[in-house]
Amino acid sequence: MSQGTIIKVSGPLVIAEGMRDVNMFDVVRVSKHQLIGEVLEIHGDRASIQVYEETSGLGPGEPVVSTGAPLSVELGPGLLENIFDGIQRPLEAMRKMVGSNITRGINIAALDRNKKWEFRPVLSKGDKVTAGDIIGTVQENVVFEHRIMVPFGIEGIIEEIYEGEFTVEEPVAVIRTKDGASVQITMMQKWPVRKERPYKEKLPPDEPMITGQRIIDTLFPIAKGGVAAIPGPFGSGKTVVQHQLAKWSDADIVVYIGCGERGNEMTDVLMEFPELKDPRTGESLMKRTVLIANTSDMPVAAREASIYTGITIAEYFRDMGYSVALMADSTSRWAEALREMSGRLEEMPGEEGYPAYLASRLAQFYERAGKVITLGSTERVGALSAIGAVSPPGGDLSEPVTQATMRIIKVFWGLDANLAYRRHFPAINWLISYSLYADRLKDWYDENISRDFSKYRTDMLRILQEEAELEEIVRLVGIDALSARERVILEAARSIREDYLHQDAFHDVDTYAGINKQYRMMKLVLSYYYMAMDAIKVGVDLNKLLNLPVRERIGRAKYVPQEKVDEEFEKIEKELAEQMEALVSKEDE
Ligand code: ADP
Repeated sequence: MSQGTIIKVSGPLVIAEGMRDVNMFDVVRVSKHQLIGEVLEIHGDRASIQVYEETSGLGPGEPVVSTGAPLSVELGPGLLENIFDGIQRPLEAMRKMVGSNITRGINIAALDRNKKWEFRPVLSKGDKVTAGDIIGTVQENVVFEHRIMVPFGIEGIIEEIYEGEFTVEEPVAVIRTKDGASVQITMMQKWPVRKERPYKEKLPPDEPMITGQRIIDTLFPIAKGGVAAIPGPFGSGKTVVQHQLAKWSDADIVVYIGCGERGNEMTDVLMEFPELKDPRTGESLMKRTVLIANTSDMPVAAREASIYTGITIAEYFRDMGYSVALMADSTSRWAEALREMSGRLEEMPGEEGYPAYLASRLAQFYERAGKVITLGSTERVGALSAIGAVSPPGGDLSEPVTQATMRIIKVFWGLDANLAYRRHFPAINWLISYSLYADRLKDWYDENISRDFSKYRTDMLRILQEEAELEEIVRLVGIDALSARERVILEAARSIREDYLHQDAFHDVDTYAGINKQYRMMKLVLSYYYMAMDAIKVGVDLNKLLNLPVRERIGRAKYVPQEKVDEEFEKIEKELAEQMEALVSKEDE
């Protein structure tokens, strides 16, 4: 182990000399307090170290000791239901150990060393295994089966495999490798956070992650394994959208990284998440969630590390063959941490003081998302979808973090303070949002829902676009300048907005719409439009079309419970057809 000496302290940055033997990204223990740090740069025998803990009181002359290993996370049973800080220290266990005032230099393991887990082997003595193979399972809690995998780099024959209760450090199997060594396998493995976990092959994202939120699934879908960004000006409903995604997405696991948001907002998340119920199991949502939290009293450097800690944990669950949704809130705060460290390193600043490598770091993060064939000798597919919130100051989307993010991500849900102000929720602005997966997912919707799905989607987007253009005309010359046809377009757009896109997160039924219900609702809203367009052509009076009694029922269709959708929607469709028919046939007489 190499030991150096501090020569300078500048906030979270410490410079030490005598560090010739350390490697980039090695974790070091700084000063007599044993603060945790990471080597960022090495010049000769000088190392620049970012320290993940408060550095006040540190001074030149104090020791720095390398641990000889890069910043790593512990992966195994006990991750779920836990809340970790940016370098994976368990907050609750830490609080028990030292009280609520976080003291420095605590040496605490991420995963509980005493807890025993019931390991059930799925392979036997003599079986051939390679990295990624599942050797056994642990029912981590009532909803989640943890799959124990052969760690990366190990291949051979199972020499011993046990059954029963073990801690994460006790061996559950022994593997004899090709070179004759016997390797003990535990339920816990480690992985350096800045390195992507390996997989066999990346697959094109071709299946939607269904969220039950109409504007997302229908208009701006995200694929399983996809990447999305959501800018959230204050009060625009960002928190509600994120909760909805965490609750309703058809992901097996949720990893939520609360990244240096203002202290009280983070506390909200810490308080609210454990209260949320998983609608599918009735259990606490935490049973399939890992929270990474940087509370406000944590230094910026831990914030910088937190997104890597989070995504490595997410990759680990993906490797088991699960679908994982990762949310990072907010990547802007993460970028600010990067900027602060870069400033202290006296690097050449780029746009608005952010380092020139901002964009490439963001890209490296999002590139770890994807749908993959995992390692292992049997074929397993896992997906990691990443959703990053950005908080552009003043809602200005042209600032560097938003711009760099938009060049990488494929889905953009543009939250809009004006829509929120008008109480249109979710306040996702359909004119600025997009999904580059929509084309690729078309086949899935065609096969699993209906061939009409994509056509309806295109029509909805077109009508909303036309509405925006017509509104411009109305503003200039008044509504009387519009033709009857154009008035129908405005009405259809209003119906799309109010009857379809508007979705109340707090309504028992409306909070979630299955994809089939979404399809039936689209069909209903658009049927009115198609029929009204035809009726206008044969001279039906516009006002009669606008006041068609069935429209009230179309507006309330969103409140029809899932199990009644087919039955109820048929009735409404029939009513619509009859009322339209009556208007048109009167015209024919
Ligand atoms: P932010 O996190 O962007 O500051 P919130 O997510 O807390 O904003 O939302 C602010 C308020 O807007 C919420 O308290 C709620 O009243 C309302 N709201 C947001 N989204 C929805 C929604 N989908 N359905 C109903 N109300 C919503």
